[in-house]
Amino acid sequence: MADAITEGAAKLQLDEETGDMVSKGELKKRLAKRAKKAATAKAKSEAPTKAAAAPKPAAEKKEDVPVDINAIFKEGFLDRVYKERPVKDVYTRFPPEPNGYLHIGHAKAIAINFGFARFHGGQCNLRFDDTNPEAEEEVYFTAIKEIISWLGFTPAKITHSSDNFERLYELAEELIRREKAYVCHCSDTEIKLQRGDEGKRPRYRCEHAERDIETNLTEFRAMRAGKYAPKTAFLRMKQDITDGNPQMWDLAAYRVLDAEHHRTGDSWKIYPTYDFTHGLCDSFEGISHSLCTTEFIQSRVSYEWLNKSLEVYEPMQREYGRLSISGTVLSKRKIARLVNEGVVRGWNDPRLYTLIGIRRRGVPPGAILEFVNELGVTTAGTTIQLARFDQTVRRYLERSVPRLMLVLTPLRVEISDAEPTDLVIPFSPKDAAMGTHTLHLTKTVFIDASDFRTEDSKGYFRLAPGKSVGLLQLPFPIKCTSFTLAEDGKTVASVSAEYDRSGAKPKTYIQWVPEDSCKVEVRMYNQLFKSEKPDDVEGGFMKDVNPESETIYADALVEPGFEEVRKRAPWPEAKETGESKLGEGGPETVRFQGMRVAYFAMDSDSTPEHTILNRIVSLKEDAGK
Ligand code: ATP
Ligand code: MG
Repeated sequence: MADAITEGAAKLQLDEETGDMVSKGELKKRLAKRAKKAATAKAKSEAPTKAAAAPKPAAEKKEDVPVDINAIFKEGFLDRVYKERPVKDVYTRFPPEPNGYLHIGHAKAIAINFGFARFHGGQCNLRFDDTNPEAEEEVYFTAIKEIISWLGFTPAKITHSSDNFERLYELAEELIRREKAYVCHCSDTEIKLQRGDEGKRPRYRCEHAERDIETNLTEFRAMRAGKYAPKTAFLRMKQDITDGNPQMWDLAAYRVLDAEHHRTGDSWKIYPTYDFTHGLCDSFEGISHSLCTTEFIQSRVSYEWLNKSLEVYEPMQREYGRLSISGTVLSKRKIARLVNEGVVRGWNDPRLYTLIGIRRRGVPPGAILEFVNELGVTTAGTTIQLARFDQTVRRYLERSVPRLMLVLTPLRVEISDAEPTDLVIPFSPKDAAMGTHTLHLTKTVFIDASDFRTEDSKGYFRLAPGKSVGLLQLPFPIKCTSFTLAEDGKTVASVSAEYDRSGAKPKTYIQWVPEDSCKVEVRMYNQLFKSEKPDDVEGGFMKDVNPESETIYADALVEPGFEEVRKRAPWPEAKETGESKLGEGGPETVRFQGMRVAYFAMDSDSTPEHTILNRIVSLKEDAGK
């Protein structure tokens, strides 16, 4: 019998408009009815109506197949970049500054740099671009390494720009010897004047540019020895001020900084700039394709100039468009404010789009890689709505995680004529390989309080006095015979029911959990901000915080099958990303679909006694808005 039941339930589908689980036939009927209604409404008025936006039939939905996570390398921009320099030994690098946690935008850079190398059989280094000692902290180094491995990538080498401080210094002296650098003492104001004013005042060089090699070497060594206070001396590259590109107007190569460096301590008084360091480190590491974002297009000229001037190996820099996400903030300063003012639970809050936050929420790394591939890579920047990201995550989870029944606000139902039975239930209606688990049915079950109404009404298909509803996986629908109220005289305390053996097919099916279910805390997340552009809101992004971004259900119940789902994590089982390779997935790899509710993952605040579940994403697009 159990088999027949599961067979039947497996064919149920979600009615996206009502959230009901219904048979294929019933869904078809409902959709046809809505389509007809929509057509009538459209005929009545030319203006678009709400009814006209009825959901598309399931058949028209995008095919549920995995996105090729190498698609971006096979065509378009990145394919052209490879063809410009089709070398056998592809070498790339991902060069974060270790001054904060990475966010979703960085995931694009990671996927591109590591992925490009992997696709072409090459290698990619993780290079900490640590030339700015003031902002660096140990935690960021560790967090960045962890998140790259979580995304499924292994750096060929982990390097630090600071590893090269001595070599960079020597090349700076070499640049002086080649008369392509000089020590300058100008103030910011003077430098600004030297840059001229388009068509009004010409650009010019200061007198320091005329110093001879010996003087420059002496002064530069004095800088290194600590003779100069910050801002009183710096080394400038002698480029080409007649070039229209400001990146050629004698950029700084070294400045004096009074700061302890994370790795080199106080041994250096001078630190190289990004413009001096980046291209040379790329050259030292033999980078064939140096991929960065389009803000660096103008810098390509100075990047090439420096390597040419020193006659070292020349990597090729190419630039792709940044990924921006609307409806949230990504800047370190802003997230720091949310954290410091207690709006969120920390840098890894599930509502944030830091990668540690997305990870904690339960988004699988594979879904992030699919997302990057779906968007594609071009030279244009892209701004994506959170809903689009959610959609990718939802599709990914749909095919890869088990299903369980969970109720957020349990309502006790006594089924008078239910016999104790063991029900064998598949973890997935589509993927038999996920196996089955057994539910022990007794007379007592719990349904969600929202699936019961004390008064029936038209268009309502769930439980009400005298009315029947299907319980997923149960042999018969149940019919409500009576209910009791709590002391407040309003809240329903319990429902009495019996099997409806009339043979009538229920209009809808709801989820339920058995008596021996596990109590869990569920954290339902909505967008952290009310608007699509939190920064544009009057008074700033802090004024746009959504007071309902987190709703807690402290007494939710999940069926006992959860225990097996927990033990068998990580979900998905596929071996495509870091979390499955490491074989020691964190709580966030315990993922499942709570039927009719949402996708969930275990939160890192969980303890053996107290399980906390995060909502990863809703089951359908408009929920929670
Ligand atoms: P932010 O200003 O957002 O903190 P950043 O550019 O200062 O970012 P880095 O540590 O310098 O952060 O970034 C490391 C790499 O990631 C760089 O190559 C950078 O171009 C890339 N990157 C940063 N943000 C994005 C983004 N939104 N989209 C794509 N690539 C990005
Ligand atoms: Mg940067």
